[in-house]
This record gives sequence, structure tokens and C-alpha cells, in this order.
Amino acid sequence: MGEFELIRQIFMPLAGQSGSAALLLGPGDDCAIQRVPPGQDLVFSIDTLVEGIHFPHHYDAEKLGWRALAVAVSDLAAMGADPRCFTLALTLPEARREWLEAFARGLGSAAGAFGIVLAGGDTTRGPLTLSLQVHGTVPAGTALLRSGAQAGDLVCVSGTVGDAGLALTYLDDPDPSADAAAVLKRYHFPMPRLELGRRLRGFASAAIDVSDGLLADLGHILQASGVGARIDGALVPLSEALCRLSDHGRLRAAVTAGDDYELAVTIPEHRWRALADDVREQLTVVGSVTTEQGLVIINGDDVQGATGFDHFGDV
Ligand code: ADP
Ligand code: MG
Repeated sequence: MGEFELIRQIFMPLAGQSGSAALLLGPGDDCAIQRVPPGQDLVFSIDTLVEGIHFPHHYDAEKLGWRALAVAVSDLAAMGADPRCFTLALTLPEARREWLEAFARGLGSAAGAFGIVLAGGDTTRGPLTLSLQVHGTVPAGTALLRSGAQAGDLVCVSGTVGDAGLALTYLDDPDPSADAAAVLKRYHFPMPRLELGRRLRGFASAAIDVSDGLLADLGHILQASGVGARIDGALVPLSEALCRLSDHGRLRAAVTAGDDYELAVTIPEHRWRALADDVREQLTVVGSVTTEQGLVIINGDDVQGATGFDHFGDV
């Protein structure tokens, strides 16, 4: 059996997994066919992960499968989109059945968890690299953009930030403590905030997923919206595990580290009050949008001079 036949055997089964009506034709033909229901906008994005740059060399194949899809789907969450289907361009140095099966297991569990199906892909030989294009839909005109933040809006962040960044310290730890295991889970198995993104349609004025660090990603919203923000370092949500594991400089690390895949959003105050309680509970207000450009952090002494912070003096 040829290696590409092996790959098809392994990936084709993922295609039918959630039997999505959105996908009229999956892998196997020259193209896939997706039907976009009338009144919906198609929202799509592509992400590439290169071994040694976006994930460590010899990274576990099953974790890689989950992580690659989670990272790509997180962009759909940030747009408030419902996931539909994805394509996978896989470049591999060699086709080893064991590796491919583990990778497909991770990818398949993520696809099931996020409600997205594999529509097709491409397979080539070379240094390990993955590109995933994800497709989602939103009711026409309701996608959450980076550009809608207005002075006075609240700046909110979901969940907690900093765990995945701290996890990098423990990647090679053979016997991690319970706290280290908790932050490692955030790195290996990110959970894109799909349900939250969807529920913020019609409420958030701007949104982004936190992939490069809260400061850098919030900076993208501010830049795209032509506004500034004032945030309170004491309000930035940190997990209990992170607080126990790190002390000095932890706020700085938490706001400059990436890979958490939480959402950073701005919400006008009257809409914040109109949000359902269970949505508000997933968010922490950390500050507000200002007409003055730039990002000011109060109660964030250890953040001054942090990479990513200096950058904002001249936003
Ligand atoms: P073509 O030469 O027409 O591009 P390919 O041999 O690249 O055809 O692909 C044949 C079929 O297998 C296509 O439908 C494609 O979507 C699917 N396919 C190839 N590689 C993958 C992959 N890694 N994951 C999912 N589907 C794949
Ligand atoms: Mg091809």
C-alpha cells in the first residue's frame, strides 16, 4: 500500500464523523462542496504549524492533532462563528502508521468536540508542517471584528491567562505536580471559546483570541479600532495553579505569554448589563476603552518594560 493510500485510509474516516449537513461532498473528489445556508456569511481562516517553531520537535502526535485543530478553530470562536468544516495540508518526512493513527485520534477527538468535519486536504513529503483551513458560518453581518471597539466600552477577558505560557517550563518534566499538570493541560489541549464567541454576537463590539499574549492581542483590537485602553493589572484573571507555581513577575509573564486561546473582547456597558448571567460569568472586566491611543496599565508595576508592553507606547 502506498503511503498516500495509508494517509487516506486514516483521514477519510474523520470526514463523516459528525454527519454535518453543511458538507455536501467530503474528501475523495477533486474538491469538497460546502453548502452555505441562505442568510449566512462564510467565515474562514488558515493556520500553519511548523515543527520546532510552533510545537516542539518530537511532540506527541495525538496532542499535535488536537492542538493544531484547536488553534485554527479558535479564530472561528473569535469571530463568533459556528464551525462547519476544515481542510488539512499535511507535510510529513515519512508516513508511519503509528504516528498517523495517533495524530488522527487527536484530530478526530478535537473535531468531535468542536463540531467540525474534515472536508479534504493535501499530503506531501517534507519537514513536518501542518496547515489547517477552517470554515465557519455566522448569520449575515454578525461576525465579531477587531475594529469595532469604542471609547467607554468595557475590556473583558475570558477564563484565565498565562497558564499555557507557564506550561513551557514544564514540557520536559517527567513527573509534574498537580499544578504543573493543570497548566500543561492548557498548553496541550486548548479549548477554543466557541460557545462564548457565539453568545457574544450582537453584544461584543470587538473580539480577538489570545494567541500571542493578552497585551499584544488587545493591542490588535485597539489598533484596528483606532482607540486606546486602560487596564488594571490587579484584575487580570490568573488561575490558582499559576498563582501557586509562580510568584515574582507572574503578571508580566501572564499578559505577555501566548497559547491560552481565551477571548479578549470589548463590550459597551449597556450590552454588558443585558448579557445572560452565564455568559458574564465566563468573562472578567479588566478595564475600559479610551479615546487616547495606547494601552495604560495600572497596578502592573512588573509589567512596565515587558516585551509587548513597550510596543504600546506608540500604538
Ligand atoms: P489532487 O491531485 O486532485 O489534488 P490528491 O491526491 O491531493 O488529489 O487528493 C485526493 C483526495 O484526497 C482529495 O479529495 C483530498 O481532499 C483528499 N486528501 C488528500 N490528503 C488529505 C489529507 N491529509 N486529509 C484529508 N483529505 C486528504
Ligand atoms: Mg492535492
